[in-house]
Amino acid sequence: MPTGLAQMSFGFPKKHNYSLSHWLQSVHGDALLDHRTTPELPQSVDIVIIGSGITGTLIAKNIVATWPEKKVIVLEARQFCSGATGRNTGHCKPDQWRGFKRYEGLFGTEQALKILQNEQQTWSDLVRYIRENEVDSAANANDIFESYKAAGGKVDNIKVTKDPMEAAKISGIKDAQACYAWSASTLHPWKLVAHIMRDNLRRGVNLQTNTLVTKITKSLRNDYRWIVQSERGQIECATVVYATNAYSSALEPSLRGLIVPTPHMCNKVIPPKTIQDRQGLENSYGVLLPKGDLFSINPRRNEGYPVLFGGSNPGQHELEKWLTENPDRCTDDGLLGFRSVTEAVQEFAEGQFKDWTYDPPDRTEAYKEAWSGIMGLSLDGVPFVGEVPGLASQWICAAYHGQYVKKAS
Ligand SMILES: Cc1cc2nc3c(=O)[nH]c(=O)nc-3n(C[C@H](O)[C@H](O)[C@H](O)COP(=O)(O)OP(=O)(O)OC[C@H]3O[C@@H](n4cnc5c(N)ncnc54)[C@H](O)[C@@H]3O)c2cc1C
Repeated sequence: MPTGLAQMSFGFPKKHNYSLSHWLQSVHGDALLDHRTTPELPQSVDIVIIGSGITGTLIAKNIVATWPEKKVIVLEARQFCSGATGRNTGHCKPDQWRGFKRYEGLFGTEQALKILQNEQQTWSDLVRYIRENEVDSAANANDIFESYKAAGGKVDNIKVTKDPMEAAKISGIKDAQACYAWSASTLHPWKLVAHIMRDNLRRGVNLQTNTLVTKITKSLRNDYRWIVQSERGQIECATVVYATNAYSSALEPSLRGLIVPTPHMCNKVIPPKTIQDRQGLENSYGVLLPKGDLFSINPRRNEGYPVLFGGSNPGQHELEKWLTENPDRCTDDGLLGFRSVTEAVQEFAEGQFKDWTYDPPDRTEAYKEAWSGIMGLSLDGVPFVGEVPGLASQWICAAYHGQYVKKAS
C-alpha cells in the first residue's frame, strides 16, 4: 500500500534552475532542445504523447512506423529530452540475474525469467539500432546468480570469477570478492534519443518543447475524444500516451503513491593523472556493495576522461532521509551535489582503485561537479505499461525505477 508520504510526493517538472548534466552541457545550443515544429499547437490530432525522453521518443517512432497516416504530437514541458534520459549515468547494462530473487518473490519464476530476458533483448536491440544507424551516441550476490541459473536463466554469456584475488586483478577494485563480466555499453543518451527524434520529425511527428501539459479532460462534444490542456492551449485527440515517468502522478491523480518521484545524483569525477596516463578504467562497472547498494561507473575516455558515478550509492540513504523531511523537493532536479553521496563516491574511488590519489588542489576540483535527475519509483519495482485503468485510450509507459534506459527502450 502506498504510504501517506508517497501519496504526497508528486509534482510537475521543475521549470527553472534545473541542474545541467554532462550530456546536456555537451549539446548546449542544439536547435532540437527548443524545437517547435509549428508555431502554434494544432487544434486536433490523433495521438498526443506527453514527454520527450527515451520513452516518448521511441513510442513516437513505433507509432509512425505502424500507422504512418496518424497525426502525432509530442508535448514536452521543458527542453527536448531534459528529464531523466538527459541526466542519467549513461550506463547501459542489462541486469543478468541481480533482480531475480525479488522478481521471483513478487511475480513467480516464469515471470522473473521473462523480465530478465527482456532486459537482454532490449539491450541487444539498442546496440543493433546504434550500429545500423551509425548513431554518434556510443563511445563507444552469488546466491542470486546460482538461483537464477538453477531456475533455467541463461548464464553462458557471463564470465564468472569467484576467486577474490583474481577478481580484484581483473576489475582493478581492491576488495572485489567476485567478478561477473558480460557485454554492456555506455552511451550519450541525449544524442541517441535526438537521433531517433530527428527521424520522427522527418516522418511527420510534431514536437512541441516548453509546453507543460496541466490536465486531461473528456471532450464535451465526443465521448471518444480527450482534451489535453497545456499552458499554450488545448488539443483534442483520440489517444493520449503518458511518457512522463516520474511526473506521471502529477498529471493523473490515480497514480499518486504508485509512482513516486525521487531525486538521484550523478557525480562527474576527474580521476588522478596517474590513472589517466596509464589509460586505466578500461570498462564500465556495476559494483555491488555488501549492503546491497550499487555504484554504476562510466568512464568517458573520449570526452576528456571524466568518470561518471551513479547508481544507488550508499550516500543516497541520507538523501532519501532528507526527502522525507522535505517532500516538496521530490521533483527538484536543481540539486548540484549532495554531501553524503559525493563523500561515498570519494571514499570508494580512493579506497578501491589502485593509484587513485591526488595532490590537494586537484582533489578539491576533482569531486566538485554533480547533477540530479528524478527517477519514478513504482511500488513493485517494475514499470507501468498499458492502458490506464478506467481511462479508455489513455496509455502509460512510465516508472522505470532507475532501471533504466534499456527498460524504457
Ligand atoms: C541520476 C540518474 C542516473 C541514472 N542512471 C542510469 C544509467 O546509468 N543507466 C540506465 O539505464 N538508467 C539510468 N537512469 C534511469 C533512466 O534515465 C530512466 O529510466 C529513463 O531515462 C526514463 O526515460 P523516460 O523517457 O521514461 O523518462 P524521462 O527521460 O524522465 O522523460 C519524461 C519526460 O516527460 C516530461 N514531462 C513530464 N510531465 C510532463 C507534463 N505534464 N507535460 C509535458 N511534459 C512532461 C519531462 O519533462 C521529461 O522530459 C538514471 C536516472 C537518473 C535520474
